[in-house]
Amino acid sequence: MTTPDDFNGAIDTLAQWLREAEHAVAFTGAGISTESGIPDFRSPGGVWSKNAPVLFQNFLADPAERRRFWRMRTESMKSMLDAQPNAGHAALARLEDEGRIVALITQNIDELHQRAGSRRVLELHGTAMIVSCLSCDKRWPAAAIQDRVTAGDEEPACDECSGILKSMTVSFGQPMPQDVMRDATALAQDCDLFLAIGSSLVVHPAASLPAIARTCGARLVIVNRDPTPLDDMAHIVIRAPIGETLRQIERRMVTAE
Ligand code: ZN
Repeated sequence: MTTPDDFNGAIDTLAQWLREAEHAVAFTGAGISTESGIPDFRSPGGVWSKNAPVLFQNFLADPAERRRFWRMRTESMKSMLDAQPNAGHAALARLEDEGRIVALITQNIDELHQRAGSRRVLELHGTAMIVSCLSCDKRWPAAAIQDRVTAGDEEPACDECSGILKSMTVSFGQPMPQDVMRDATALAQDCDLFLAIGSSLVVHPAASLPAIARTCGARLVIVNRDPTPLDDMAHIVIRAPIGETLRQIERRMVTAE
């Protein structure tokens, strides 16, 4: 953990950099949502660490794999459907409102940033909160399909065309959405401050974005509970709870003006 003195110094500097920045970009990972009660599914004990992933190709080809997908998803959706945005999400939405950050790139699939009020959100891994038909593209809120699964429909199908349903997340073996990745890369290249929050920075290609920003000349700040592979590259590393860190930054920015 960052010591209190180091923490206060880092917050002062970061608040100053946010005031100076013309194109600051925020980037978030699972760590910001754990404070809303959503576990990091990739961490030890998480649903994605206990089970082999359902590869997209197998999901399409094998009904048994689709049933396994919906069983795993039922476990992960329990926390996600009940979650509320926290102080960290709210602070980032206000920073965008105030023109301090131009966009938010996220690895998260829970839509908590949008619910907190963030408007320009790039979802690198899609969203778990919408289910779509892979044949006719009809869409449902996640809760509606989850109710069917909970009621015993092990492999829900489209009520219009009987097509295969899938959450609009990017699955293992499924390509990243190219337009989103292109826009995120451009933001990383053009920003002057890149704020990586709550990401272990190990899942690629998303984790390459902070390195791109740094290489292109941006200031790089990492806020995360644990060390990341890019810490040596960062100008500031803060190891502290995320919601509290972002609230302190906001407070510093208000009092300094
Ligand atoms: Zn359909």
